Amino acid sequence: MAETEFVENVVVGSGFGGSVATYRLAAAGRPVLLLERGKAYGPGDFPREPWDVGANFWDPSAGRLGLFDLWSFRRTDALVAAGLGGGSLIYANVLIRKPAEWFVEHRRGGRGHHPWPISRADLDPHYDEVERMLGAQPFPRHAPGFEGVLKTAAMERAARSLGPDHSFHLPDLAVSFRPAPGAAPAVGAPLADTPYANYHGRPRSTCVLCGQCDIGCNSGSKNTLDHTYLSAAVDGAFPLVATPAEVRTLCEVRSVAPDGDGYVVRYVEHPPAHHDGTPHDTRSLPQRTVRCRRLVLAAGTLGTTHLLLRMRRDGELPALSGALGSRFSGNGDHLTVLKRAREDDGRPLPLHASRGPVITSAVRRPDGYIEDCGYPMLLNWVYQARHGLFWRAGAFAAQRIWALLTRDPNSRVGASLGMVLGKGVEAATSMPLLGIGRDVADGRMTLTPGGYLAIRTTRSSRAYVAGVSADMRTLAGGVNAAGFADSVWDKLGRSVTVHPLGGAPMGRSRQEGVCDHFGEVFGYDNLFVADGAVMPGAVGSNPSLTIAAFSDRMCTAVLEGRTRAPLRGTRRRPGTPAAPGGRAGGWPTP
Ligand SMILES: Cc1cc2nc3c(=O)[nH]c(=O)nc-3n(C[C@H](O)[C@H](O)[C@H](O)COP(=O)(O)OP(=O)(O)OC[C@H]3O[C@@H](n4cnc5c(N)ncnc54)[C@H](O)[C@@H]3O)c2cc1C
Ligand code: SF4
Repeated sequence: MAETEFVENVVVGSGFGGSVATYRLAAAGRPVLLLERGKAYGPGDFPREPWDVGANFWDPSAGRLGLFDLWSFRRTDALVAAGLGGGSLIYANVLIRKPAEWFVEHRRGGRGHHPWPISRADLDPHYDEVERMLGAQPFPRHAPGFEGVLKTAAMERAARSLGPDHSFHLPDLAVSFRPAPGAAPAVGAPLADTPYANYHGRPRSTCVLCGQCDIGCNSGSKNTLDHTYLSAAVDGAFPLVATPAEVRTLCEVRSVAPDGDGYVVRYVEHPPAHHDGTPHDTRSLPQRTVRCRRLVLAAGTLGTTHLLLRMRRDGELPALSGALGSRFSGNGDHLTVLKRAREDDGRPLPLHASRGPVITSAVRRPDGYIEDCGYPMLLNWVYQARHGLFWRAGAFAAQRIWALLTRDPNSRVGASLGMVLGKGVEAATSMPLLGIGRDVADGRMTLTPGGYLAIRTTRSSRAYVAGVSADMRTLAGGVNAAGFADSVWDKLGRSVTVHPLGGAPMGRSRQEGVCDHFGEVFGYDNLFVADGAVMPGAVGSNPSLTIAAFSDRMCTAVLEGRTRAPLRGTRRRPGTPAAPGGRAGGWPTP
């Protein structure tokens, strides 16, 4: 019988929590295997043609191994990613630290606030480190080539309509705008090499302002986790990584269980050929097994909580806290559209929302943020088509019929055809707005009898939603928008989130949470949760930076032997310095 594979550390999922953990452990010389269910996507790999985009969803039993993993629950929908680099592949690059005063949570039933088990001061050094690794920098709005992104200035102007407790700023983005550290920003310039080899081995360029960050950056300008943490983690020639990590894609973890003084992880490998749109019985895929001493779950809020709920039901992890599934939050996501912005004299105010990175600016509110929200250029045609295309096409047809009847000698029809397409004013002067913030984290994640994930949310965040919606309406008024609309979801009484959080929250005790403040699961030494599931409530700002900083802090504690049951080689003797390795130190990312 073949011997079961053993690796000291297994990391499940390559999003913000998983990629940071993989890099930190590898840098410190700890053997690590990363299992990621999705594919790797290098520059140029992100689908753009309608037939490819339509197939770009994650549903292996339906023959889909694509990037977008959409979930629909009773009153809420959620979108997450499946691919090497997790949510960083489709996120809008915004990195904002959670404000210090927000490290408290609403108590149920409005009974005051409860402090988080960690504070801003705990995370600050780790925020610094993640920002450096991801090349965080604000959008260079005044640099040549970038000043044509009009929505940023429009947001600044609109923000003046809100009170003094609202402030406009340019948040850090994990995007390369400069070809090399210290160089001037330039559009579409080749990027200088990083000190480690690129995972995909393909050239990258600075941002080309295409507005496609949410469907994957084909120019490699986003500093996604595969281009940064994971590239460094697997590069055997990179001197700051002592033991290169091993990364396996299309490997989906199905179960985890205690095994001696470690854990056993069972996973299946999806054959790439199964991305063919035909049903596959994924239960019949051969199961692979790997044993480890330390297991880091980072499959995302939905992935990790679902896995843990199933493991508790199956008796594999029976001692998990009763808090499992609690404190679900959509991070206050609220989408609206401001329509037909105008100058003060009534002329159209162009915003061109699809030009530039999806998000470039943010307005801080008392309990959240409002951000400009771009979209891929293609959607401009869809938006424009919805506004009067039928009438314009009718007018064109009538003109042509009249020309034929009257034997009009003018055979030039270009201008009339242009009229059918329209002036594009609707699309050019309208822009979605994204509200995020501190909703009430009282959603509950459970398993259905068939083993599916279910989420029950309440209406306790109504006051928050009303507040952010009112601010967005005022903001739209700041650019004289002739229209303002809540999203389709809102009209249907549903919410949609791209920032699901909670489910395996950290807490001070097993009664309060599933994990301690380092992410170590109560009742299971050396089993860690390092992703959005560990957040005990809304982050309030865009959460990726906080998830990554949490994982970085967890790794420091692991490597310094400060967790409950340190492994050999990570035990900290009194008086010894802090964690070995792990700090890449010293090079700036463009
Ligand atoms: C359109 C969009 C825009 C966004 N914009 C921003 C933004 O600007 N700023 C921000 O901070 N956040 C943004 N987010 C949210 C951000 O992407 C998430 O908060 C973040 O990715 C969560 O990190 P994570 O580590 O918890 O999990 P994820 O990044 O979701 O990673 C989980 C990984 O685990 C893998 N996985 C799941 N199950 C398994 C399994 N069983 N076996 C193996 N692998 C598995 C998944 O494929 C995935 O790669 C955005 C999200 C979306 C969808
Ligand atoms: S705007 Fe385009 S080029 Fe720039 S980061 Fe986004 S996807 Fe990449």
